[in-house]
Amino acid sequence: MQELISQAAEIILRSKLTLALTGAGISVESGIPDFRSADGLWSKYDPAEYATIEAFQADPEKVWQMLRDMEEVVASAKPNKAHIGLGELEKMGYLHYIITQNIDNLHQEGGSKNVIEYHGNSSTLSCIWCGKRYKTEEKRDEFPPKCECKKILKPDVVFFGEPIPAEALNRSFQLASSAEALLVIGTSAVVSPANTIPTIAKQNHAKIIEINKERTHLTDSITDIFLQGGAGAIVESLVEEVKRQGGGNHLM
Ligand code: NAD
Repeated sequence: MQELISQAAEIILRSKLTLALTGAGISVESGIPDFRSADGLWSKYDPAEYATIEAFQADPEKVWQMLRDMEEVVASAKPNKAHIGLGELEKMGYLHYIITQNIDNLHQEGGSKNVIEYHGNSSTLSCIWCGKRYKTEEKRDEFPPKCECKKILKPDVVFFGEPIPAEALNRSFQLASSAEALLVIGTSAVVSPANTIPTIAKQNHAKIIEINKERTHLTDSITDIFLQGGAGAIVESLVEEVKRQGGGNHLM
């Protein structure tokens, strides 16, 4: 493992544009279960039943029960060593952007500034019927939050079946097309179109460093270095190794 971490650090030190693509797995050590875990929130709410736009349109009140439970889990979660490590890498100039599929704000809380929220975030709510938008804070005391047109509002997170926000989609595509290194952390890479990002990067000859507890379909196809294990300990070791080999901040 130490040899692989050393090789991954060399790639990061050599790269002029390094990205990280993160998924639910990076937040598991913060107490937020991923979709693949059999326990926690998702044993109570099947994402196929609750996280689709069709489900919201059919019964928004029912979907809000899941959203409220999810909000509770997220509100008490703190960034873990993986989020903090990526924040540190960015500060040192070795990580340029994070593209996250998560909606938990933990990258920002962990010190990262350049975060592209591929699946949106829950700081605003929109009415899918009349289009009016509100700050979530404004509706804090309403459950479920309602629009002035009396319909139930939807958080601006991307449900299955909804398009990716155009700016995040275009920016991610553009960055992946010119990246020299991509860290893929805690994602099963089965949710489309986020899962096209590693392939786009690879086509540009980016080196792919994958960090996951388990192998994925990327591991034997496009991954160059697979670091198997929990994201917290591995990112921490990787950041230490980058510091050891790089000896300071990256000069661009
Ligand atoms: P996923 O649930 O499909 O896969 C999670 C991956 O993380 C798996 O490959 C698993 O092996 C790995 N993993 C689990 N624990 C890990 C750990 N401690 N260290 C490293 N790897 C670990 O997640 P996905 O690919 O992100 O796709 C699910 C969709 O649901 C995404 O849109 C995601 O953002 C969303 N979601 C978000 C949150 C959140 O905001 N925290 C939580 C659940 C689901």
